Amino acid sequence: MTFIGRFANLIGFALGNFVVQQISGRDRYGAPVWIVICSACRRKQVFAHRTLASALESRSAAQVLFCQNAACRLSRKEHSSPESLADLRRQERAEKEQLEEAARKEQELAAQEAAQQTALRTEKQKWLRFANSQILAGIAIADVMSFETWQRQSDHWREDILNRLGA
Ligand SMILES: [Zn+2]
Repeated sequence: MTFIGRFANLIGFALGNFVVQQISGRDRYGAPVWIVICSACRRKQVFAHRTLASALESRSAAQVLFCQNAACRLSRKEHSSPESLADLRRQERAEKEQLEEAARKEQELAAQEAAQQTALRTEKQKWLRFANSQILAGIAIADVMSFETWQRQSDHWREDILNRLGA
């Protein structure tokens, strides 16, 4: 292999279905830009050195390089490689998993909220039992412990009160 500066001279190289014909110029980093001929449609096209170099390193240049002529059978559209199909499937799977995960989280949150609501309702019923007993015992409504204060008391204290009411 010969070199043009520090870049491999690719003239005459066959990469998959493409043959490098000549140098077209340099890109802004000084790398050669190549004129390449498609063996299927014979159209000349320009490829960056980086693209050809990675195709050269790849074991399957045919699956890396695609004809820029959309009508050519070697263009990406009409000749999608197994690799890109696999990529697509992987992407679809990942999206599906993300959606399922989001749905699962939403269900979890809804269940948590429902459980909290149920717990709150149960606690309110206990407090009502307590408040009613207080009112029956002649305590002014304004002096009865509010539900908020009731909730702040210890479980033990509340249980004790309710047990005594039940007795
Ligand atoms: Zn072509």
